[in-house]
Amino acid sequence: MKKKILLDPKGNWYKANLHCHCTVSDGEWTAEEIKERYQEKGYSVIAYTDHMDYRRHTDLDDESFLTIGAFEANIDAPADEYPDWNTRPVYHLNFYDICPEGRDCAAVPMPEQVYTVENVNQYIKARKDEGFLCCYNHPWWSVQTYEDYIPLENVDFFEIYNHGCELDGLYGYAPQAYDELLRTGHRMRCFATDDNHDRSPLGDPRNDSFGGFTMIQAPELRYDAIIQALQNGHTYASMGPLIHGLYMEENRLVIECSPVENIYLITQGRDGQWLRVHPGESLTRAEFPLTGNEGYVRIQLRDGRGLYANTNAYDVKELLSQE
Ligand SMILES: [Zn+2]
Ligand SMILES: [Zn+2]
Repeated sequence: MKKKILLDPKGNWYKANLHCHCTVSDGEWTAEEIKERYQEKGYSVIAYTDHMDYRRHTDLDDESFLTIGAFEANIDAPADEYPDWNTRPVYHLNFYDICPEGRDCAAVPMPEQVYTVENVNQYIKARKDEGFLCCYNHPWWSVQTYEDYIPLENVDFFEIYNHGCELDGLYGYAPQAYDELLRTGHRMRCFATDDNHDRSPLGDPRNDSFGGFTMIQAPELRYDAIIQALQNGHTYASMGPLIHGLYMEENRLVIECSPVENIYLITQGRDGQWLRVHPGESLTRAEFPLTGNEGYVRIQLRDGRGLYANTNAYDVKELLSQE
């Protein structure tokens, strides 16, 4: 059986923040400042996802930096029903433009404020038909529950980690919601993002930049190559640990990574597998034999600082198939 490669140990990686607010909406930093500061931290890709405002920042693109055409749409529950903003449920969705060439960004419709899942699904479907990818964001901050996100349709990605929410004390890390979506048949990939607004200055421990990132494996830093990598799941989500490679060897799922203390194989059911070492010791590789009965599998890493990285979820039957 030949080796099935999911993330190539020899591949090119690009560090991305796929959820980001600049002064176009309610962020404190200009798009240029974000580029400069993120580049210094090793990022090559930024999706500026300003609220209800799709605009391109192609003036910032160069051979070492790429902007993804994107915006964040919200659909809020009615204020007369929920007069207190603190407890008003909202849907927040990021949209990523597969092919912005020739698109009139200002003409992309923003959603009607009708808080029903039917309206939300219609809006998602319409944007997907026009050539966007969709990510469902930060359910806890949105004051949403299982009942709100399980009926979503056509969503490509789930925000497993949102650094801005984490710093607000709002459960930025949402692995349980991700597994609920997967267990109920959704096949979403996962992103870790900053959702930075930078209301605290650079260097302040409350600054919300540089905490959650998505690593993208692509042959080169070109718009279509990066989008294709997102579509094909050549990505992982992290707060710190790095994944160097992920592949099948015979019936075993193998991961290679930066030093961590825990490596968990999470499956659709109760039984998982894990490796764990004492604090101060480290793991950089794990092999998990698969039986074919796991449903889906995904791998979660935790390092000595308590930071997590997550692979996407994979269908075990597909991993074990001979094609
Ligand atoms: Zn949001
Ligand atoms: Zn946001």
